[in-house]
Amino acid sequence: MMNMILLGPPGAGKGTQAKRLEEKFGLKQLSTGDMLRAEMAAGTDLGKKVKALVDSGALVTDDIMIQMISARIDQPDCKNGVIFDGFPRTVAQAEALDAMLAAKGRPLSAVVELKVDEEALVSRLNTRIAETRARGEAVRADDNEETLRKRLQVFREQTAPIIPYYAGRGMLQSVDGMAGIDDVAR
Ligand code: AMP
Repeated sequence: MMNMILLGPPGAGKGTQAKRLEEKFGLKQLSTGDMLRAEMAAGTDLGKKVKALVDSGALVTDDIMIQMISARIDQPDCKNGVIFDGFPRTVAQAEALDAMLAAKGRPLSAVVELKVDEEALVSRLNTRIAETRARGEAVRADDNEETLRKRLQVFREQTAPIIPYYAGRGMLQSVDGMAGIDDVAR
């Protein structure tokens, strides 16, 4: 069983790489952002509770996120292993994940950091918005330059501290996320 974490700022390509890894290794991508957006789209109590935070680019509380992941990895489709995409996002979440995986008898196999240049992310986002619009699809409420800058700041302040957390445990591998999709995957 392989359980890995993909780490990096919003727009670094975690989702794209997670899909590759799903296919190649039969793992399940667990994107906490996708889970929250599904709750919001379904109009559940949880979805209503988190909407303002998600739309503004702030983080949802640790207890909600930890509970969501804990319930999700017990599902049968996670039995071969998972790729955490967008979780953990705080040191408290990383600590809770360690405890959770130990309790469930799941080893953490790897933490892969996608290193990217922030200004390049802003231009990638603007390209993605233009492409989404060109396909006639709806653009996410948190997909705009102002919110991205806010999310990058949240990443620097609240999420980046988990990089030394895993490095200190000898778990961290860093990959140049500015390389092409195939190179990053390799
Ligand atoms: P993402 O699609 O991963 O960029 O997530 C979109 C938004 O969902 C984030 O900007 C946060 O508001 C929220 N979110 C997703 N994952 C987490 C997490 N692990 N902890 C706190 N908030 C999260």
